[in-house]
Amino acid sequence: MNLAPPYPDEPISSALVRGCRHYGLTLGRLLKVAAPSASGQVSFIGAAALSPLADLFEVTPRRLLSEHTVVPYLTAYSPRPVWSKLISSVLSPCAAPISLGSVFKNSFDSTMQRRYCDQCVADDLRTLGESYWRLSHQLPGCFVCVRHDCILRLAPHRIVGRIGAYSLPQDVTGPPCLATMPPSIWHILALRSSETLRRGLHPPLLRSNLHYRNLAEARGWLKRGQHVDTLALRAAIENEFGQATLTAFGIEPSYTQNHWTALFLRKSQSNMTTTSRVLFIEELLATKPVDVGHRPSGPSPKPRLGRDAELAKAVSATRISGVGANERLTLRQLLERCDAFQAYRHSTATTMPMLHAAAAKFQQGAARCRPLAGELFSVPDSSGAWASRSDLVAAGHLIHGREAAARMGIHWYQMKPLRQSGGILSIPFQRRDWYPAFWFDGTDKHLLAQRLRAVRRRPLTQQWAELLKVRALAAGKSSSAPTDHP
Ligand SMILES: [Zn+2]
Repeated sequence: MNLAPPYPDEPISSALVRGCRHYGLTLGRLLKVAAPSASGQVSFIGAAALSPLADLFEVTPRRLLSEHTVVPYLTAYSPRPVWSKLISSVLSPCAAPISLGSVFKNSFDSTMQRRYCDQCVADDLRTLGESYWRLSHQLPGCFVCVRHDCILRLAPHRIVGRIGAYSLPQDVTGPPCLATMPPSIWHILALRSSETLRRGLHPPLLRSNLHYRNLAEARGWLKRGQHVDTLALRAAIENEFGQATLTAFGIEPSYTQNHWTALFLRKSQSNMTTTSRVLFIEELLATKPVDVGHRPSGPSPKPRLGRDAELAKAVSATRISGVGANERLTLRQLLERCDAFQAYRHSTATTMPMLHAAAAKFQQGAARCRPLAGELFSVPDSSGAWASRSDLVAAGHLIHGREAAARMGIHWYQMKPLRQSGGILSIPFQRRDWYPAFWFDGTDKHLLAQRLRAVRRRPLTQQWAELLKVRALAAGKSSSAPTDHP
């Protein structure tokens, strides 16, 4: 038994349904008779069981995959090794059907309904005597027929999943998927999407993030080497297309720091993304450039003078009141209290002289205490002087990873994951990692685990504060019951 091959742009499932009608069989019966290995595997737009189905249509599996599935659209911008692996495994006749699930899931919303164009249906019925579904109408964000320039209609069946309904577009009636004609960008993107679908099985376009980064620089969006201002780029894409358009194309608003648009303009060779995002970034970079370069925050030169005086005054006032209250602060704590820390950090003694002078005055005064970050690498010895890292190692305050591991009763290579997870403080010195000795003094594993839990996932400075407390406790204990360790 053979079936009439699929029409251009027709999904395999639609051609099967037409075949059923030609022979007066149900799909289950037809597959049982003609392609038993494909039974239960046919989905509306998927690419399963290509070999048996290709035999049924007397075409090659490659042609079915290339012209009658959405795989060319979905993989148009995939990294080449991913693409090769996927295509060869889908085409392999002996391989178990591989799951294209995640590829589909990234682009197709599972609640999406099938779409059709009633003018295409009328044309088909007049010229072919039957109608068929079109792949290009089902692509993400395609709500207009680019051939007839009209709004597509919604059929009462879903796009993804197993084929459950054997209807053709001529059998269904549904409402238009949009109330009014959308902005022209929707037409352009629908056209670009269907062009991408028609690429067939040509190797994917090698467009890494670096490609878009270079394009952005060449077209005036960014200066060479400049960082991207994520917020400005996100605003540019939302202004250009509107949130409704982005949502329609399956691009959900993202309010994380790593907005997808910014990832595009990173200097990297990675290009794992969905086709619709690529189409958006390409359309965006073709429009009039907006400056999306990152600028360090800070006032412009003129008001800076006033700001400098204002902040310096606040720092001095806080310094005096801090001393009055007998309070000890680090410089950072003082500056943060006056909202002057960012300004201080991004300025120099030349650009904000008064603020820097006020800070220097504080640093010479009695209210200033040594910042915790400094303490990371030095602790006071018995005479009250500050010891260097080499002194600490010599005095046994810092021990090497092998010794630390031995005291914990674990293998030394297990120290690395512990250190990398931020669970334990380590101090680099002479290309080795050193650990505070008091961590491991007279502790059983249970107590150590308890300490680890207490300090885990805190900033290093906080960890150090915790450790100093532990050290103070250990010191208190050792005065009544001396231990071997310093
Ligand atoms: Zn149409």
